[in-house]
Amino acid sequence: MKKVGILGSGQLGRMLAQVARQHNIETVVYSPGKNTPAGQVADKEITADYDDLEAIREFARQVDVITYEFENVPLMSAMAAEEIVPVHPNPRILAIARNRIREKSYLQDIGIQVTPFHPVRELSDLEVGLKNLGVPAVLKTAESGYDGKGQVKINDPAEAEAAWQTVGQAPSILEGWVDFDREVSVLGARDQFGGFTSYGPIENDHVNHILDLSYIPAELSDSVAQLAILSVKTVMEKLNLVGLICIEFFVTADGKLIANEIAPRPHNSGHLTIEGHITSQFEQQLRTIIGWPVGDSSPVQPACGMVNLLGDIWPTGPGGNGPDWFEMAQDDGVKLHLYGKSEARPGRKMGHLTRLGADTNTVKKKLLDTRNRIQTDG
Ligand code: AMP
Repeated sequence: MKKVGILGSGQLGRMLAQVARQHNIETVVYSPGKNTPAGQVADKEITADYDDLEAIREFARQVDVITYEFENVPLMSAMAAEEIVPVHPNPRILAIARNRIREKSYLQDIGIQVTPFHPVRELSDLEVGLKNLGVPAVLKTAESGYDGKGQVKINDPAEAEAAWQTVGQAPSILEGWVDFDREVSVLGARDQFGGFTSYGPIENDHVNHILDLSYIPAELSDSVAQLAILSVKTVMEKLNLVGLICIEFFVTADGKLIANEIAPRPHNSGHLTIEGHITSQFEQQLRTIIGWPVGDSSPVQPACGMVNLLGDIWPTGPGGNGPDWFEMAQDDGVKLHLYGKSEARPGRKMGHLTRLGADTNTVKKKLLDTRNRIQTDG
């Protein structure tokens, strides 16, 4: 069996390593951290900086294939590794997915609709962009923003200068505001034989820019759902990607589908596939990168949902023991995943709950009820 290297060591790497362990496939995790969520489950944890090319090469020599669990891996490092072993998905997608300008330009070039946008390198670009796109608009750093970090909504052109300061005068993208009805994501898995399968569209509710709740089936017309799946398939085929990607979309009230972001890795909205589908997103990632064909991605029950558990519900201070897991266990259908993070911080993803059921309303209600009930005072 192949030995799998994972660049990045968060919960996505952990859940991949868990599937690998189930298959008795060895994993080596590489990140600057120690005792990380993925490192706790992997066979070996390498602690080194992402831009340490010598350490990257040494890591690559220890494994048969490499994948990554976040898109901010330096391109140079992914390419250095690729000289030694295959890296999936092909690092070309990293260059696209890690930069919002390249990402939107690429999607537009291959005929996928995106939000109107304007690249911003200096304040005058922002002023021109605001004239062209109007307000409201949103200014986002082109690189390394996530969960709403590095972005600011602009409601009036007079706010341009303040917004430019907020993003630290970093190269940015100005996007027209989309008054969307709902947000959905589609995950695609593609194998080395060109086989393709997908999950979703999955419907996603965000709170404070952070994913809160995901569920299937999304309430969408068949044609919008098919277009979303086709968009993901098109990106994977055009770039000949092997592995897993996710595209997040906005859907407007009049049924327009607008792509917002590509993640070339498992996605938080796909955590519900662990219990909710015959083959989970992590199993697909593993299968495809080691050269197996994609697995069956059919849902197990008509509906399925997931709620995130953020550090906000971990009481701190003396006697703070975290959420009340005994209370959680009163729901006999809920499934708990904890990521092994020792420190709980507001907004930090500590774990999630999944539940299957006959319809989305019941699933959502039960998940939210359970999450409310497990919150303790300390
Ligand atoms: P992002 O970091 O691009 O995923 O943005 C985080 C969240 O901000 C999205 O999930 C949306 O809820 C919201 N958002 C981002 N871009 C826009 C936009 N152009 N129009 C409206 N809402 C947006």
